[in-house]
This record gives sequence, structure tokens and C-alpha cells, in this order.
Amino acid sequence: MVCIYCGSKTAITNSRHQRSTNSTWRRRKCLNKACKAIFTTNEIAIYEQNWTIKSQETISPFLRDKLYISVYKSCGHRRNSVKDATFLTNTIINKLNAVIKDGTIDISDLLRICFDTLSNFDQIAATYYRAYYF
Ligand SMILES: [Zn+2]
Repeated sequence: MVCIYCGSKTAITNSRHQRSTNSTWRRRKCLNKACKAIFTTNEIAIYEQNWTIKSQETISPFLRDKLYISVYKSCGHRRNSVKDATFLTNTIINKLNAVIKDGTIDISDLLRICFDTLSNFDQIAATYYRAYYF
């Protein structure tokens, strides 16, 4: 990766696996002596290109943003709905990682895991989710 400030080559100075998001956090330093900028990157799987959702009639790409929006709407009554939806979406994706086979998720498994995760977190959110997404 090149420097986001000057376009020069960079070096990784620190790297950590983030279990909660199944991603890799990296600190980079610009190698241009006139710049020496330090910035952070985050490597995460592109689920849209790797996972599919299977229903009775269709196979479609798994859209992380679509999952996030459904969780966010379900958490709309909560004070920190953005933060809660981000945390819950990451939790759901980690649970999907444990059950996915050949990159395909059955829609019923996705709905069940979403509902169960929301039920453990907030009953109102789970009720909203069931009403709008089942
Ligand atoms: Zn630079």
C-alpha cells in the first residue's frame, strides 16, 4: 500500500488480528523521509465476493451492509443504535463463519442466527427483526 498523504511506499510497523471482527489492524509508516506519515489500515474479507445466500428460488451475494441495516433498524429504539448494530453485525458474521459450508448460507440459518443474536441482546430488537425480516 502507498502512503495516503504522498503516494510513496510504506512499511508495516505493527499488526494485530482482531478476533471480534475477524480482521487485521495494521499501523503503516511512510518511507518517504520528507513525509514519514503514520496511518492505520484494516484488512477484512469482502463477503460480497465470497459468500452467497441460498433461498428456495434464488442464490444471491451476502451483503454485509444489508445485514447491518436490518440490525440497525431493529435497534432503532436504542440510544446507541449505530454502535450496537456494528457490534451485533460483527457477532452475527462470526457466528455465520462457524456454520457456513462452501461459502453458502441458507437463508433460514441466517434469519435464525440474526434472531437468536438479537434475542440475547434486546427482546424489542428481536421482535422487530422477526416482524420485518421473517
Ligand atoms: Zn507519505
